Amino acid sequence: MAKTIQAIRGMNDCSPTESPLWQWVEAQVREVLNSYGYSEVRMPIVESTPLFARAIGEVTDVVSKEMYTFWDNDEQLTLRPEGTAGCVRAAIEHGWIYNNEQRLWYMGPMFRHERPQKGRYRQFHQAGVEVFGIANPEIDAELIILTARLWKKLGIDQHVSLQLNSIGSLAARANYRSALVAFLEKHQDLMSEEEKERLVKNPLRILDTKNQALQDVLDGAPKLLDYLDDESREHFGQLCALLDSVGIRYEINPKLVRGLDYYNKTVFEWITSALGAQGTVCGGGRYDGLVEQLGGHSAPGVGFAMGLERLVLLVQEVNRSIPVKNAVDIYVVYQGEGTALSAFQLAEKVRSTLPHLGTMLHCSGGNFKKQFKRADKSGASLALVIGESEVLNNQVVVKHLNGGVEQQTLDTEKVIDYIQSQF
Ligand code: ATP
Ligand code: MG
Repeated sequence: MAKTIQAIRGMNDCSPTESPLWQWVEAQVREVLNSYGYSEVRMPIVESTPLFARAIGEVTDVVSKEMYTFWDNDEQLTLRPEGTAGCVRAAIEHGWIYNNEQRLWYMGPMFRHERPQKGRYRQFHQAGVEVFGIANPEIDAELIILTARLWKKLGIDQHVSLQLNSIGSLAARANYRSALVAFLEKHQDLMSEEEKERLVKNPLRILDTKNQALQDVLDGAPKLLDYLDDESREHFGQLCALLDSVGIRYEINPKLVRGLDYYNKTVFEWITSALGAQGTVCGGGRYDGLVEQLGGHSAPGVGFAMGLERLVLLVQEVNRSIPVKNAVDIYVVYQGEGTALSAFQLAEKVRSTLPHLGTMLHCSGGNFKKQFKRADKSGASLALVIGESEVLNNQVVVKHLNGGVEQQTLDTEKVIDYIQSQF
């Protein structure tokens, strides 16, 4: 036998038994986004590398070590590691945001070269939202409220909690950075080489270090919230008041800064303790400077992205009764001279008149016994049976595969009504 070729590590297949759950989760996401009036956009999976370097920031983990980048002749391209950069690029390119508000969403695969583990993959999927042209905290609140509604629909609302912070303006953050660096320089003995490097390149990222000794020291570090500019402070206060008014609970986490450079003011994460180390299911924030940074007319922006693998895992973990429909409802079997034609016609008629049902036609021959075994295996609840005598009498036998009801012989023209009455 020839040697088999396997999938790339960290890039998963979605099996026929898993896809119904995925479809259900995706359908809930779409339904919620549609109910808030958001529009779908679809961007390419590959973009020019400098887009990500400029949008996300050279010294972030994503750009410095997680991107899949390659040369296409003399152009450097990257498999998108996230959706915001491409969405902003598209919005500028097509003028979607010029003097305009836009509430957009997208869903699809993202790629990051990370160490694969539960909830962390090299190809993973995000659903993301980006809103352009609205500077008010009302829209920050809407995004959070929208995600809270989605968690309810998915049945995971009791298992996620909201972390909230404001990282202020660029200037406020620069002031804070100096204060933080001055504080941390006294504790370099506790730092790994990587953390020492971060101290120079991206000191705010040290705030979410997993190094417990350093975390303990950080409790006494200067707080970003104390360095906020007045505008950011007011924005944050209004956001908190809006969330309070609709009963959304949150924890203000002064160490939450998020990994990507482009955020300002609001940052938030929905986290869970049910998935081990990969506890963040959704993260987002405001990025008022990004559109201009990527060459557009200045326009405020705010958005978030959720990891679909982590949501699917969480749904599996906590919500055992998912309304996932079996793919096959009706299985059509036939045996004997001239029966294939009638079976095809019948199956097509069922599909035309009852398109919400899954109708599978047995195509691989064999006797009725073998065919019924397949019918049972398909999970269908009804079998439609056509033998030679049924063809002659223009009839169909309807058999209930889950038992209970006697099988019936019906005239062909009555079959559709009968099937309809059974679902
Ligand atoms: P993490 O801290 O877990 O690495 P992140 O801050 O890098 O997450 P974001 O860039 O904010 O993640 O992406 C938004 C969401 O996408 C995350 O909250 C997570 O649910 C999901 N996500 C990110 N990276 C991966 C990955 N490698 N595999 C699966 N899901 C991911
Ligand atoms: Mg990451």
